[in-house]
Amino acid sequence: RASLHLVRGQEDLRALDPGGLEVLDATFAQFRAALTRSNHTVKRALTDPRLFSGIGNAYSDEILHRARLSPVRLTQKLSEEELERLYLALRETLIYWTERFIADAEKRFPDKVTAFREGMAVHGRYGKPCPVCGAPVQRIVYAANEANYCARCQTGGRLLADRALSQLMRTDWPRTLEELEQKKETIRAGGTPPARRPSKGRPPV
Ligand SMILES: [Zn+2]
Repeated sequence: RASLHLVRGQEDLRALDPGGLEVLDATFAQFRAALTRSNHTVKRALTDPRLFSGIGNAYSDEILHRARLSPVRLTQKLSEEELERLYLALRETLIYWTERFIADAEKRFPDKVTAFREGMAVHGRYGKPCPVCGAPVQRIVYAANEANYCARCQTGGRLLADRALSQLMRTDWPRTLEELEQKKETIRAGGTPPARRPSKGRPPV
C-alpha cells in the first residue's frame, strides 16, 4: 500500500492532488519537489494554490519569518538546509494556527474572519516591532498584495525594493534599516533627507 503514495514525478504529483499539495500530509521530499518545480520567489511559490493547498498571504509571511528567509529568495537557489528549515517552519506555523483557531472557536464564535490574527509575528504588523528582535516590520507591495517581513531576521538588514515607495523616493530609496532610520529622523526634524549622509554624523543610540 505504501507504493500508492510514492511520487515518481511531476505528473504523478498532479494526478494525486491536482489542487496543490496538502502540506501537513506531505513528506519533505514531496514538499521540495513541489516548491522547486519552477524557479519563483519563495513567497509566490508558497501562495500558489496549484503548488500548495491552504497557504494564503498571511501564513506565508509567518512561515518565512519563522524560517528566517527573505520572501524574494528564488526557490531553486535554496540550500538543502534552508529547504528543511522552511519545511519545518511551514509545519509548525500551520499546526500552531490550526490549534489556536480551534481553541478560539470553542471559546466564542469568531465575530469576523480575517486573514490577520492577533499574535502574528509580521503579517499585518507593518512598522510594529518584530517579536524576535524588535526591529520594525517592513513591507513590499506588489500587485494587489503585500508581504511583511523583518529585515533583521530575514534579509540580513537589507530592505527589499518596494516599487511604489522606490518610485516615490526615486534614487533616495534606503537600502538598510539604518539608512531608513536616519531618513525618518531627518524628516521628523523638518529637513529634507539627503541622498547620502555620513554615518559619523549620526547621533548615538
Ligand atoms: Zn526580527
